[in-house]
Amino acid sequence: MIRAAALALIASAVLIMPALAATPAETAAALRDKALHDPLAHELVTSLASEVGARPAGSAAAARARDWAVAQLTRLGFRNVRVEPFEITSWTRGREEAEITAPERRRLTILGLGGAAPTPPGGIEGEIAVFHSFAELTAAPAGSLTGKIALIDQAMPRTRDAAGYSAVSRGRMRGAQEAGKRGAVAFLVRSTTTSSDPIAHTGAAHFDGARIPAAAVAPPDAERLAALAAQGAVRVRLVLDSAEAPATAWTVSGEVTGAERPDEIVAIGGHLDSWDVGQGAIDDGVGVGISMSAAHLIGQLPIRPRRTIRVVLFGAEEMDFSRKAYAAAHAAEAPRMVVVSEADAGSDHLYAIALPRGGAAAPQLQPLAAVLEPLKVAVLTDPARETGADFASLQQQGVPVIDFKTDLSRYFDWHHSALDTLDKVDPAALNQNVAAWAATLWLIADSDIDFRALR
Ligand SMILES: [Zn+2]
Repeated sequence: MIRAAALALIASAVLIMPALAATPAETAAALRDKALHDPLAHELVTSLASEVGARPAGSAAAARARDWAVAQLTRLGFRNVRVEPFEITSWTRGREEAEITAPERRRLTILGLGGAAPTPPGGIEGEIAVFHSFAELTAAPAGSLTGKIALIDQAMPRTRDAAGYSAVSRGRMRGAQEAGKRGAVAFLVRSTTTSSDPIAHTGAAHFDGARIPAAAVAPPDAERLAALAAQGAVRVRLVLDSAEAPATAWTVSGEVTGAERPDEIVAIGGHLDSWDVGQGAIDDGVGVGISMSAAHLIGQLPIRPRRTIRVVLFGAEEMDFSRKAYAAAHAAEAPRMVVVSEADAGSDHLYAIALPRGGAAAPQLQPLAAVLEPLKVAVLTDPARETGADFASLQQQGVPVIDFKTDLSRYFDWHHSALDTLDKVDPAALNQNVAAWAATLWLIADSDIDFRALR
C-alpha cells in the first residue's frame, strides 16, 4: 500500500512538475502534449505578420521587426536577449512593367528579382530566347544571347520534400548571371512555384560579376511567351526600377540558459526578414513562431535543461547575408554548438526528422521515436544533410545540424508572393510542428550527447 501510494504521488508529480519527477522521455511527451494546445506560436505569427507585415532587410519595417523580436523575447522570459547588427546591401523594388511588343501587344505579370540591376529609365527591349532549364541555358555558347532577353520556362514539380524546389531554384538564383555572361540584356524566369495562378513569385538573383535586370514571370505568361517564341520572334519590353543601398540588418537572439552546461548551445531559429510582397507569414513568420514557442515551453518547466537553448532570429535570409554574418560573429563558440536547426519551410505537417550522423542510433535519443510517433513524425536513420540557409556557414565549419522536414506540397503555391499571408497558416499544423521541436530539443538539451563523437 505504501508503494502504491508512493507511485501515485510520483505519477501526480509527473503531471504537475514533469521536469522534476519524470524521465527525459516523460518530460518530452509532456512538452509535446502541452504544445498541441499552446496558442503562443499562432499568436506570434499573427502579431508579426499583421502588425509588422512585410519586412525586407534594410527597410524601416525590418527595424520594427527587430524591436518586435526584442519585446517578445523579453516578455516571454528569455535570458541574454541580444541584438547583433551587421552590414548588408539592401535592394528595394521600384516601378515594374513588362509587355510583349511583338507579334502582339500584351501586358505581362512580373516581379523583379532581388539583387538584380535596374533597367535604364526608359526600359529595355529585346527578342526572347527561350530555355527550358538552367542546364540548357548554361549550354548556350558565349555571345549567343547578345542583345536578347533570356527566359527559362521550366515548371516546378510538386513534391513533399525539397526536391521540387531544388530542381528549378538554380534557374532563378543563377540564371541571370549566366544569361548576362552570354550577352543577354535581361533575364526572365518562370516563377519558382507549384501554382499556375497568374501571379509572380519573387526571390533573390545572385551575381558574382556584372549584374543585369531580372524578373520572375507569372506561370501562364511564361508559357505564353514560350509558345509564341516557338512560332517566331517575340519581343518584350521591360521596366525594372530597383535601388540598392548600404544598410544595417540585425540578428536578435534569446536563451533558455542551461542548468549544468550553459556553454553548450543548442541553437534553433527562423528568419525575421521577408520579401516585400505578402506578409511574410509562411516565410518565415511560422519559423519565428515555432522556434520561440518550442523554447518558451521548455523555459516554462520548473527546471532548466542541462544545456542552453538559444533562439536565433536572423535578419537577412532572403538576400543571403545572415549565414556569413552569424557564422563570423560566432566562430569562437561554434565548437560548443551541440546542434543547430532553422525552421524555414512553412508549418504544414512535420513528417520526419533527420538527425546528425549516428544520432538516430544514439542511446540518449532512443525515446525520441516513441515520443514523436503520436505526431506521425518519423525519425530517419539517414543523417541530416542541411538545415535552413542561415545556419549553412556554421554547418560548413562542422556544426551538426537537424533537418525538421515539413510537407512542402502546398508551400510553394504561396512562397515569395503576395499570397504569403496569415490565412495560409493552419494553427493545428503549426502546433504539431512546435510539439515535435519542443520534444526533440528537450531530449538533446537535457542530455550529454555529442554528435561530433558519433561521426
Ligand atoms: Zn525563408
